[in-house]
Amino acid sequence: MKSQVSNQLIRLERIAEEIRALHQTPLQAIAVELEQTLAPLLHPIDNVEISGPINRLADYLSELLAALPKTFGQRFGFDAALTAAVMDEWNPKLNLRRLALPVYDLHWGYRLLVMPPRNRESTRVIDVFHFRGGETLEEVELLDYPWLIHELGHHLMHVHAEDFPEVFRPELLAYLRDQRVLALADRARARAKADSALNQIEQFWIAGNDQRNWAHEIAFDILALWTCGPAFLNAFCATLEEGKPDPFIKRQDHPPYIVRAAALLYAGRQLGLRRYQNGLTLIHDKYLQVVEEAGQKNELLLFAPQELIRSCVDAAVLVAEKFQLKKWRQVDAEKFLLEPIFGVDLLNAAFEKRQASEASYPEWERAVVSQLAGYVTL
Ligand SMILES: [Zn+2]
Repeated sequence: MKSQVSNQLIRLERIAEEIRALHQTPLQAIAVELEQTLAPLLHPIDNVEISGPINRLADYLSELLAALPKTFGQRFGFDAALTAAVMDEWNPKLNLRRLALPVYDLHWGYRLLVMPPRNRESTRVIDVFHFRGGETLEEVELLDYPWLIHELGHHLMHVHAEDFPEVFRPELLAYLRDQRVLALADRARARAKADSALNQIEQFWIAGNDQRNWAHEIAFDILALWTCGPAFLNAFCATLEEGKPDPFIKRQDHPPYIVRAAALLYAGRQLGLRRYQNGLTLIHDKYLQVVEEAGQKNELLLFAPQELIRSCVDAAVLVAEKFQLKKWRQVDAEKFLLEPIFGVDLLNAAFEKRQASEASYPEWERAVVSQLAGYVTL
């Protein structure tokens, strides 16, 4: 018992040390809050069996600390300023701005961190955005940044959780109901098979609050397309071409890339972006050919039928319209270079510049990034 308590104390002191290190960083306010949570635990009362709850709290604090940024260099400042600007700009009336922290990773991503409750009424949450690449300013690749809008979609739909499911859920349920009625005519074995497929479809597509489903992921792609248009199509294609992910893998938290590509192509047609879709169309056709050759067409249609892809895209477009999210527009890259600002135009100007001149793009990017980084003070 004694040694268990002292081990626990050692662990808590290590956590305290990790928190102390945050005091010299932009996360100082977070450090103060975490210290308030930790302080009572550092002075345990002897002979009281509370190790279970304390361990759980220690686990939670460790996990929180692990998810926070560790370095606060120029790229951190650049990305934090950009994220804040885009949150403000997407639609200022939505009040999306809250503490957003960039961290560096192999892939783009988003994570919601819940801070320890300050009191019964208020719990602070922090958005952590995973930016692809390393932590130095030289690693900024603006052509990749339209993915940030996809990640912001995660944030938007945490703040406004019901709007998208409210539109899409009835469509999904109607589809499943119709299919279940059709399956009634099947013989018992075929019916059991159809039932289990429909249950699986429901699980993949039901837009639950944890956002671990196909419908939400497709919706975030569509929001990025809405705001970055061809710049997002370009970033999406580059991810497929460079990373060469298996386009057919079905996971609960992400639809297969072939399905995401189909959704984007349909959405692009709806949004008048058809002339920018050649690259993605080629990739999608190649995927379809593989499916055809492997004779898996039925499976693909089974889990991702056209009707569902379309109603999911339509629901996402409705949400973008309802929230009046900033829509893609062409930006003059040369004018932008004269007076660069943080915001969506940065992502779209980079794309335009690259389209206009591959040779002079790197210099343009360097000039814009270093000028903007110069505005940031941490
Ligand atoms: Zn996502």
